[in-house]
Parts: sequence; structure tokens; C-alpha cells
Amino acid sequence: MSNILIVGAGGVGGVVTHKCALNSDVFHRITLASRTKSKCDRIAGEVKEMHGVEIATAAVDADQVSEMAALIRDVKPDLVLNVALPYQDLPIMDACLETGVHYLDTANYEPKDVAKFEYSWQWAYRERFEKAGLMALLGCGFDPGVTGVFTAYAAKHHFDVLEYLDIVDCNAGNHGKAFATNFNPEINIREITQPGRYWQDGQWVEIPAMSLHKPIDYPEIGPRESYVLYHEELESLVKNFPTLKRARFWMTFGQEYLTHLRVLQNVGMTSIKPIVYQGMEIVPLQFLKAVLPPPEELGENYTGQTSIGCQIKGKKDGKDKTYFVYNNCDHAACWREVRSQAVSYTTGVPAVIGAKLMVQDTWKRAGVFNVEEFDPDPFMKELMVQGLPWVEQIDPKLPHDYD
Ligand code: NDP
Repeated sequence: MSNILIVGAGGVGGVVTHKCALNSDVFHRITLASRTKSKCDRIAGEVKEMHGVEIATAAVDADQVSEMAALIRDVKPDLVLNVALPYQDLPIMDACLETGVHYLDTANYEPKDVAKFEYSWQWAYRERFEKAGLMALLGCGFDPGVTGVFTAYAAKHHFDVLEYLDIVDCNAGNHGKAFATNFNPEINIREITQPGRYWQDGQWVEIPAMSLHKPIDYPEIGPRESYVLYHEELESLVKNFPTLKRARFWMTFGQEYLTHLRVLQNVGMTSIKPIVYQGMEIVPLQFLKAVLPPPEELGENYTGQTSIGCQIKGKKDGKDKTYFVYNNCDHAACWREVRSQAVSYTTGVPAVIGAKLMVQDTWKRAGVFNVEEFDPDPFMKELMVQGLPWVEQIDPKLPHDYD
């Protein structure tokens, strides 16, 4: 039995709270805290009505270490599950260290004023967490998250050597809006407007944003144009699986989405450089976020599926082998279960699985870790029963060129 403090009441925070309530045999006390308490109260009301479980709520500005630490002292959780924004990762980790509590998140730290995400800032906490006997689990959503677990599972059960990894991420859903992002618009647009980057023969290859693309055939969906992006799990995966000759991340985008994005970029609305408007300093991208639909409001009429998986080529017993492991997730089914769409669902459910494995001491070591550093088997088992069943194909024909 454990006591969990969830921080962040957006699309993902809603799913995490519902799923913790659906695992109330593991999480006997659940508190949801965020900057805007009314959002926590709305989710708590929904959870009570749908699953009959009480959720405590609180207001917190997680940028302030002292506020965060005071909340932790009050709630006394075993673990803080951070699904606020990447900007809050470091202050929340500091507060966990100050109060002696374990930590989990789904996205790596980004400074507000530079669109740059890398693990170095959080990996730098390793020694402090180790010394305090605490664990921090980083990037435990779907991608990053399940994609790391899938890779570790492939390495453990199917390969002697991993050589090529292609993570393929498709959202073939339709939310009926002209333009919206499926998770926090500010973070999402910062991610996809950066140059693309992939790992090849021991170094990073940088390419202009969206310049490398091709159709990839997704299970039960069909071919969709997919673009190479830089995605944060590549950084830890090439470090933890150093035999990888190449590692890439592909994501689908529709033409309509790309046209909107191009226009918004061209008129300066995706800029993170502050401008002065009517005597007030504003960041254009933050203003854009304020006028776009929030991710938690997309769910109700969303149809179609997401499909995310790992396509791997390597060697087993000296012979070439290919492998594909993936999950498809249905937007409408997520709405029925936890009032969410599939992008928030596929992020929130793995976070709860990670938290469950940590509080049950199945995944427990002192220090700062990425998910692929642990035994993937208990996580893969939980995915099957917590709503994200996976499928594997042994020796499929994969849609990539290999050297
Ligand atoms: P939302 O924008 O919907 O929600 C973010 C929440 O964090 C909001 O409730 C917001 O409060 C709260 N928040 C922001 N700043 C603070 C602060 N200083 N103190 C306390 N609370 C704060 O985002 P999502 O739910 O879509 O995404 C949540 C996280 O999940 C992000 O970090 C995102 O990058 C990550 N993610 C990870 C994925 C993965 O697969 N690994 C995929 C998708 C998302 P307010 O409402 O007041 O603004």
C-alpha cells in the first residue's frame, strides 16, 4: 500500500489520476496537485463519479522548490509522479532530495528560454540521489518510456547484438479540429520545429526539420507519411545499447497539420523569444498555446488509433534477425475508460506502471535511471493488463535500408 503525489493536472495528469484510482489496491492515498487547483478538483470529481475513489487535491507552483517541499512534507508521499511540464523537472527533483522521496517523470528537463532537451541536467543528479538512497526514474511515458522498455525486451529475449533501431510513432486519429496538438502545445511545437537528429556510426547526424520522410505502413492503419525527428529517448538508448549503429525516431504528420505549422512559423507565432505587446512582455509560443485547444479537451469525439513501436535489426546466434514490437491504442476506448485521448493515455498509463513497480520494490535502485536500465519483463506484463497490450512480429520485413 502506498501514498502517491501526482503533480500536473493536464491531459496526462488526468489519465494518471484515473489509472492510480483504478489501481487503488496499490495506491491507497492519491493526491493531485497543480498550479490551478480547479483543474485538480475537476479531475477528482470525475474520478469519484466514475471509479468511486477519493482524490485529495492541492495548489502548488512546482517551479518553487520551497513550495513543492512544503507540499511533500504535508502529503508525505512515497513517490512524486511529475506530469507537469519539463521546466519543473529540476525543482521537483530538488524538492524530492530535500524531503527524501522517490521521483518519476515522463519528459526530460528543458530550460524555458532555450528549446533544447537533453538528459545531462537530470543525469547530473545521479550521485545526490544515490547518496540519499532515493530513486529517480526518467522518461516513463510511451516515447520516451515504453519504447525504451520495448528495446530492452528485444535485447533480452531476441538479440545478441542490436544494430539498427527505428522507433515509429503514428497518430491516425481525428479530433475534428483544424489544428491542435495532442500534448502540451508549447512543448510539442518546440520539439518538432527543432532540427532533426539521428544516431549513425557513433555520432549524431543533424538534418533540417522535417526534411527526411517516407511512408511507413502501420499495423491496422496502413501507410502514413513519417518524418525523422530528434526524440529524447535516442540519447539514453544509444548510451545503454552501444552496439547500435543507427537509431532514428519517425513520427507521422498530416499535410493539414504541417501547413498550419508552416504558416504559424512564418508569421513568428512559434518563436520563444519574448516580444513587447501593448507594454507587456509576451512569448509568442505561449500566447499561441493559450488560444489552441488544451489536450484534455480533445478526447470526447476523437476517433481512430495511435500505433507506436520499435523496429529492430541485429544479430542472433550469428545470423541477421529483424523484430517489430508495437502497441495500437484506440482514442474512443480511452475516452470511455478515463475521459482521455490516446496520446495522453499512452503517456499516463506507463507512468503509473513505473510508479507501481517502484512502490512495490520491483524496480528499485538508488540513483537516477532511464527505463531501459531495468528488467523489462515485469513492465511488459503490466502493459498487457493496464490497457496497452503489445504485439510482436519475429523476422518481419522492415521498411528501412540497412548498410
Ligand atoms: P498539459 O499542458 O495538458 O498539462 C500540464 C500541467 O502542468 C497543467 O495542469 C499545468 O497547470 C501544470 N503546470 C505547469 N506549470 C506548473 C507549475 N509551475 N507548477 C505546477 N503545475 C504546473 O500537458 P500534458 O498533460 O499534455 O503533458 C504533461 C507532460 O507529459 C509534459 O511534460 C509532456 O512533455 C509529457 N509527455 C510525455 C510523453 C511521453 O510519451 N513520454 C508524451 C506526451 C507528453 P496549468 O493548468 O495551471 O497550466
